[in-house]
Amino acid sequence: MINVTKTYLGDIDKFKTYVEGIYARGWLTNHGPLVCQLEERLKEYLGVRHVILTNNGTLALQVAYRALGLNGSAVTTPFSFVATSSSLQWEGIRPIFADIDAQTWNISPEHIESRIVSDTTAIVGTHVFGNPCAVERIEEIARRRNLKVVYDGAHAFAVRHAGQSVLNWGDISTLSFHATKLFHTIEGGAIITNDDELARKVHLLCNFGIVDVDKIDGIGINAKLNEFSAAMGLCILDDIENILQQRAEIAHRYTTRLGDYVDLQKPQDDSQLNHSYYPIALRDEQQLLRVRSALNTNGINPRRYFYPSLDTLEYLQPQAAQTASRSLSERVLCLPIYPGLQLEDQERVIATVIAECSLGRAPYQAPDLASAI
Ligand SMILES: *Cc1c(COP(=O)(O)O)cnc(C)c1O
Repeated sequence: MINVTKTYLGDIDKFKTYVEGIYARGWLTNHGPLVCQLEERLKEYLGVRHVILTNNGTLALQVAYRALGLNGSAVTTPFSFVATSSSLQWEGIRPIFADIDAQTWNISPEHIESRIVSDTTAIVGTHVFGNPCAVERIEEIARRRNLKVVYDGAHAFAVRHAGQSVLNWGDISTLSFHATKLFHTIEGGAIITNDDELARKVHLLCNFGIVDVDKIDGIGINAKLNEFSAAMGLCILDDIENILQQRAEIAHRYTTRLGDYVDLQKPQDDSQLNHSYYPIALRDEQQLLRVRSALNTNGINPRRYFYPSLDTLEYLQPQAAQTASRSLSERVLCLPIYPGLQLEDQERVIATVIAECSLGRAPYQAPDLASAI
């Protein structure tokens, strides 16, 4: 089965060398040397001031909300992975949805303002599929309305906007390093901020509020990354340019071939994407179900990211219906994209999608594989 993604595993000998070091030191967690090394390398690679590694991307969000002292409600996107909203609700912050932009698929600045209520303390956006949010306009709204901004950057590793990491926008951005993500540490995540005081708070919150052996300063939780996970991250970071390059090539091939048959996400201006996903929007849900079943028959397993629209979730009611998000979530399918995806497999995906989408169009001509490389 060709799945929507395939976990990237770095060089096993390199990983073994790191593991031997862990055995020699006997230091398995609690901000060990490999965690420190990975934080340093990520700071440099991403071009950000602080990187605090966490044991997953969901706790990274929860700690971010705590560090910023959020309460009441937050205006957020209905088109994201469920953790963006559930983490707010878990922390006692009521998510209020603002609809998405039908082109970029990100939370729309046009809708944010009208959704702000008296107890709103933040805007929480997701750079969905790695496409940067309208960060300049969101920043302007947040400043004027005195709100904090958190970006769920789980898809935005290595994404750049206006000449720098997109993670530099907002008070805090978070990352997920789950095994299915472009860059991963098996399970893991990170909190990114350029504010020194906020970084200090985040460190404390991630480690039970422990300042030193004799002092606890406020409530905290255990959000620490372990050394084995950091070792995986260090191995994969060595290969990151190759990973990004292969993804860009696969994405380019999809766009060239499928652009006339399906709707595609409009990239934010002045942005450099990471092709962490390859989402297509079909005409309607019927067509999506037909395409999915045809792909399944051909041994291909695409995924409906993100369905359902989060404003429909039972435990988040009452919510106003977010029509653009609902419409999109019924039509979006993510196609396989990962380093090592074979050309003939991608061609099979393309041919299947085109066959289902070209009713009433000229028949699809499979290209000569040798000349298509
Ligand atoms: C993967 C993901 C998360 C959750 O990250 P975990 O590391 O799995 O906890 C949060 N938000 C988005 C948008 C994601 O894709």
